[in-house]
Amino acid sequence: MEFQLTEEQRLIQASAIDMVRRDIQPVLDAYPADQSLPKAAMHELFKTVAEMGLMAPRIPISAGGSGLKMLDYGLIFEALPAWFAISVMAQEVTAARIFAESTPEQQARFMPGLFSGKTIAGTATSEPGAGSDPRGLTTKMEIHGDTAVVNGRKLWVSNGSVADMLAVTCINGVDAKGRNTLMRIIVEPGIANVAIREIETVGLQQGHLSEAVFEDCEVPVENILSSGGDAARMLTVTWNGNRPLVGLAAAALTQKAFDLAVEHAGLRHQFGKPIAGHQLVQRNLADIETAILSSRLLSYYALDMIDRGERENGIAAMAKRHATKTCENAISLAMQVQGGMGITREAGLEQLWRDVRMLSVPDGTDDILTLIQGREITGLAAFR
Ligand SMILES: Cc1cc2nc3c(=O)[nH]c(=O)nc-3n(C[C@H](O)[C@H](O)[C@H](O)COP(=O)(O)OP(=O)(O)OC[C@H]3O[C@@H](n4cnc5c(N)ncnc54)[C@H](O)[C@@H]3O)c2cc1C
Repeated sequence: MEFQLTEEQRLIQASAIDMVRRDIQPVLDAYPADQSLPKAAMHELFKTVAEMGLMAPRIPISAGGSGLKMLDYGLIFEALPAWFAISVMAQEVTAARIFAESTPEQQARFMPGLFSGKTIAGTATSEPGAGSDPRGLTTKMEIHGDTAVVNGRKLWVSNGSVADMLAVTCINGVDAKGRNTLMRIIVEPGIANVAIREIETVGLQQGHLSEAVFEDCEVPVENILSSGGDAARMLTVTWNGNRPLVGLAAAALTQKAFDLAVEHAGLRHQFGKPIAGHQLVQRNLADIETAILSSRLLSYYALDMIDRGERENGIAAMAKRHATKTCENAISLAMQVQGGMGITREAGLEQLWRDVRMLSVPDGTDDILTLIQGREITGLAAFR
């Protein structure tokens, strides 16, 4: 067993940190922290991270992707500011789904723009009536000659308002067990009739969580992705990769809170000494550090399992649930260490707290992740 990063992994991590400091953070700092970034800035950022292979880490080099190991991708991912990390993940996982579900002709059409980051993309699956249970979707695609007509309403589409391309998950039939089967279709908002609006949320506010309404939205049948079988399976496969990545985003937010709390505890004096010297403050700091390290290790472990081709469902679910729960609590503790300062806008901790709060919802809520782990332990599904 080896708990150290390899020399190559250290270099990957260092160059990611350098890229964020030099090319990403200055762009983010040029815009308000509580408003979504303009599309031109998103293009600039995607161009930067494309050079590190982040637009297609899960697609093999032989197919034009960067074929990163998931663990190496995770090391870069945790260096990115959280909302941008989620946006990058939405882009590259959409590319991975499109790649897996498309014909060679469709790949030739869609992949180059996705690989370079010139095409901004998102996956539209969740709906007002269906989130945790994608088999309950109602968005329909009907075929009339050369045209597919999409009708439905999607919610919480990451990158939605800046997307050039949406992979829209629709129902297309019923399987032998009577469950809806799913299929994806590419809708290009600049060309097709789709109404998109941003949804205001408590955190990750420079991102673009959106609603997309498709009303008799006409798309050429060539945009139907039908090569990968049931699109629900590809959702599950890709969610397993996303979960530890989200865990790392939670750990990275908490690391920032921890650093601020330690600094404050050393400077702030009460009862005649730095508060860092009081035992209960030390307990809070110890709990925060434990949350960060345990979240990181579990997330790395889950990503490494994926790289080794092992069955990772339970561990990936465990990593995300543990990270988002403990890190939300840990950031709250960091605020407590700062006392009255901790709850001010000025201190910067409240934004970390609002951001981490967002992470226990996507790619499986805490409850759904518990049930996935429970199913791995018992062999019994307790979802329905
Ligand atoms: C930052 C962010 C990014 C997102 N990005 C995307 C995206 O790009 N594309 C997209 O399509 N969606 C996206 N989503 C939406 C996300 O996938 C859904 O919000 C999520 O799947 C939960 O669905 P829901 O909100 O409808 O909640 P519901 O499924 O309605 O769940 C509500 C509550 O009931 C609980 N619950 C549900 N079923 C069970 C059960 N069987 N047992 C116990 N408890 C249960 C849940 O845990 C939850 O607490 C994103 C959300 C966020 C916050």
